[in-house]
Amino acid sequence: MEYKIAVIPGDGIGPEVIDETIKVLNLIGEKYSHEFNYKYVLAGGIAIDEKGTPLPGETLEICRNSDSVLLGAVGGPKWDDPTAKIRPEQALLGLRSGLGLYCNLRPAVLHSALRDASPLKDSIIGDGIDICVVRELTGGIYFGERSLVKNGDEETASDTEKYSTSEIKRIAKIAFETAMKRKKKVTLVDKANILESSRLWRRVVDEVHKDYPEVELDRQYVDNAAMQLVKNPRQFDVIVTSNIFGDILSDEASMITGSIGMLPSASLGEGTNGMYEPIHGSAPDIAGKGIANPLATILSAAMMLKYSFGLAEEAAVIEKAVEKVLEEGYRTGDIMSEGNKLVGTKEMGELVVKYIKEGK
Ligand code: NAD
Repeated sequence: MEYKIAVIPGDGIGPEVIDETIKVLNLIGEKYSHEFNYKYVLAGGIAIDEKGTPLPGETLEICRNSDSVLLGAVGGPKWDDPTAKIRPEQALLGLRSGLGLYCNLRPAVLHSALRDASPLKDSIIGDGIDICVVRELTGGIYFGERSLVKNGDEETASDTEKYSTSEIKRIAKIAFETAMKRKKKVTLVDKANILESSRLWRRVVDEVHKDYPEVELDRQYVDNAAMQLVKNPRQFDVIVTSNIFGDILSDEASMITGSIGMLPSASLGEGTNGMYEPIHGSAPDIAGKGIANPLATILSAAMMLKYSFGLAEEAAVIEKAVEKVLEEGYRTGDIMSEGNKLVGTKEMGELVVKYIKEGK
């Protein structure tokens, strides 16, 4: 079977972590007789330099005509002027809206070999943490009406949290479907004691829940959820929430796993096209040094195989190889601890390849 993948290496460590990920995908293709056809395209800072825009029309067109998009990272100090009209991050927003990606899936997994990296106590971590945050991506307060009214020296600003039934329904479905493939529990996080929009979320999520009787549905206010994530993270399986709450809670969930260099993400919409990228940025402080951790991007590719191509077995093979590399004590600098073996970006990629080759 042939799969068309648009590849956006982007800026900083983006190209370095993408290189290792492509090696892993090539091996999977070889091993399972899939043909992955890559089209490399420009976005972010490099696209500003070469084409004068962070998201050239040609890039979006190629992404639209692909079966999925794999992205490294965009941005860097060269383009970081906050007053600039053209910024690398605009490429991400343009891709999300251009591809109709309204759902962000962020698994936060604490690999047992990396428990030292977590800021939480052993007694809280128990046998490990495995949470998936399902965040609404194209609605809510980030996209609602805003205003700034001046009255003499006094200024009044407002932003609007706005959601419709259909926007909530489609994200709720993804959350329940995701839970069905996991531990069958969904926690809806909202502020329904205060916000009308949250009360609508509750009604709609309750309605969608009727189609998934096997899934347990829990509801938590966002302030409580923020506490529960550090107090008892093992109670969570899938968290579904609005754009703003998801933005904050997915970062908190990532933090408790201890390493930004390990965490993948997927942005999904209708159909099977999706955008897959590590949660970290372009890490300009270590770019070009060959020391970046490629595992978050490699695990993003595993998500791509699972969610866009339906290749769950191949995805599991990658995840298992990553687990094995960690168990064997290989670490990039960001996850290094005493007694382990320090490796660079290329070596880490080659180790994953090696364990996939050796795997059954
Ligand atoms: P960052 O994630 O790039 O880096 C934060 C810290 O984590 C740095 O010390 C970095 O060295 C380290 N780090 C990140 N990824 C790593 C990896 N794979 N291996 C080892 N260490 C890693 O965040 P930042 O410094 O706030 O942002 C840098 C640039 O990236 C900015 O221009 C920002 O706008 C951009 N950014 C892009 C994305 C994206 O492309 N999706 C996301 C976040 C930030």
